[in-house]
Amino acid sequence: MASRPRSDATVVWTDRFLEYTWTPEHPMKPARLRFTIALARALGLLEGVELLAPAPAGEAELLRVHTPAYLEAVRHAEPAAPGALIPESAPYGLGTQDNPIFPRMHEAASVIVGGTLAAAGEIAAGRTRRAVSIGGGMHHAMAEAASGFCVYNDAAVAISWLLDNGFDRIAYVDVDVHHGDGVQRAFYGDPRVLTISIHQHPATLWPNTGWPEEIGAGPAEGTAINLGVQPGTRDAQWLRGLHAVVPGALAAFRPQLLVGQCGVDTHREDPLADLALTVDGQRAAFLAMREWADRYAEGRWLAVGGGGYGVVRVVPRAWTHLLATALDRDIDPATATPAEWIEQIHTYAPAVEPPRTMGDGTPPEFTRWDGPGGAPDTGDPRADRAQRAIDTAVLATRRAVYPLLGLDPEDPRD
Ligand SMILES: [Zn+2]
Repeated sequence: MASRPRSDATVVWTDRFLEYTWTPEHPMKPARLRFTIALARALGLLEGVELLAPAPAGEAELLRVHTPAYLEAVRHAEPAAPGALIPESAPYGLGTQDNPIFPRMHEAASVIVGGTLAAAGEIAAGRTRRAVSIGGGMHHAMAEAASGFCVYNDAAVAISWLLDNGFDRIAYVDVDVHHGDGVQRAFYGDPRVLTISIHQHPATLWPNTGWPEEIGAGPAEGTAINLGVQPGTRDAQWLRGLHAVVPGALAAFRPQLLVGQCGVDTHREDPLADLALTVDGQRAAFLAMREWADRYAEGRWLAVGGGGYGVVRVVPRAWTHLLATALDRDIDPATATPAEWIEQIHTYAPAVEPPRTMGDGTPPEFTRWDGPGGAPDTGDPRADRAQRAIDTAVLATRRAVYPLLGLDPEDPRD
């Protein structure tokens, strides 16, 4: 942790991330990563940036989080014959509709973990303060099961590795539309790791966990935080909720490093969930993470990808903004998407209308939460209802966990 940083940000990338390929019908398509890197390159964002190519994670690293039996099962998993009946549940979660077995699954998933580990290694060695691996973010993978398109839990493996390599207070902030259940589970009893997840309300979306009452166990009580937001939530309310819960907890926890899971399936066009964020709102969240890392985590920020199924119109722009944010090369959302990139999209995805600008044309303005009962009447009943809904969620979360962090749940300064 001592030596001088070589640069402010490291971008981890290998074309091998594209080998994490489910079935042709599966919503998680590697093209989302390919289109992202193509867009970042077309904008000149990666000029002069050395891309760090990771090695696959080894067995010892995977075993930090997963069981030997599960690793064996992934290694020897055989794809189902064409036309075979797909079970809803299967041993180790392998071979289901969500997690169909694909060739060289173990190798592909190990490279994803290797990417996040490489990012962690650069930060731990003091060579960089920020590192991004958009291939990572497989936050649903469990110790002994694939789940929700996730085979190996790269973020959990990297956090575990960091705990053995100089860090003992790590904060994990997960903005994916789904609850970050796998990472929460991995550190539920470990007071050295604070996990915070903002997600669509568990009563309305898989995996149906992430209730405010999930606060960590034993010595780790108070180090799991969950904010569930209603379907239809837009930028203004989502950002109000995020800011009402996360910075206060980070200030109290004083992490040495912030891990951000940057899933972008919160977008209004995402086919798998029901929130209504824009790319501009997602960009605002990444800018906030950068600021929080600088303010509360000694400048260290490890960012990974996650969900996001708007393969052409959402993920490439959102994660290009993520890369830009980490590199301190912020891109104005009004910037036109380059003609060269639009042409590529026309070639590879002729049925989809590519976005013409880097934002959705909606500046993500929000008013800060200022305590219970503080939401003003705007005269717009729909906006007022949305504001009350997010404020109810904020209070439930703060009341469940803030006292355990020594904070006052009703004081907006905390
Ligand atoms: Zn997700």
